[in-house]
Amino acid sequence: MIIPTITKIEMLSPGEYRINWEYPVTTEDIGIYKYKLYRSSGGGDDEGELLKEFNHLRYFTDINNIKKVWVNTYYRIETLNVKTNETDRGKWTTMMVAPDLEAMEIVRRNNILLSNPRRGIGVPIAVFKLKTIGPHCPDCWDFNKQKIRSSNCDSCYKTGIQGGYYEPELTWANLTPPAKMIQIPQWGEMEANEIRIFMSNKPVVNPKDLIYISSRNCFYSVEQIETTTKRDYLLHQLVSASGIERKSVVYNLLKEYPDLNRKLLEMSNHIKTGV
Ligand SMILES: [Zn+2]
Repeated sequence: MIIPTITKIEMLSPGEYRINWEYPVTTEDIGIYKYKLYRSSGGGDDEGELLKEFNHLRYFTDINNIKKVWVNTYYRIETLNVKTNETDRGKWTTMMVAPDLEAMEIVRRNNILLSNPRRGIGVPIAVFKLKTIGPHCPDCWDFNKQKIRSSNCDSCYKTGIQGGYYEPELTWANLTPPAKMIQIPQWGEMEANEIRIFMSNKPVVNPKDLIYISSRNCFYSVEQIETTTKRDYLLHQLVSASGIERKSVVYNLLKEYPDLNRKLLEMSNHIKTGV
């Protein structure tokens, strides 16, 4: 059985919680499992309220306006093997540490700094999180060699996992942070096609995720991330990413999300320059 374990419940903003989980490393096919995420205000024998059915997600953002959620809200994941009908109910897990209110205030101010209509210093970007778990690509995965057969497959975008990336998440980033902020010794000299950007605390980016900047019509691949935290609470992220050449198959992601450029443009039209 591939039973996920809830690893962390984070407060992103008041009323918004992100439940993270991990799957055990296994050669078993995850495609035969169905998972259900439940929430309860009591835990114990309570059945709970169904929030989400999924196959290979790694986190879920729950909007829940209960005060003090970290002491009285529980989450669990139920596992069903559709071939054998075997189930696992999952353990109730709760947020153990109260969120740091000062840290949340810093994040709130960062978000205003980036997206404020008058003085915002950010531009809208789309973050495509890489799928690290899921069924192998039906079109190009070579089961004998355990690798992809094609570098221009638009079923998996060279990732080997069906779909390749999760639906893009839209956020704001500053593309020209002050030099002293982005000169990180272990990152070395900046390459010609590299960008270094400042982002708030979500979405959390990882190496190999993609960042799409609509005003440049360009995809970037995340290389490194430097995070600032306060008592384990993520405040912001400095990201280095390298430009991906136009002939790469990842540009076909734009065909899957035909509204993406319009949505990003609407976000940037909300910024009034020169006012
Ligand atoms: Zn493929």
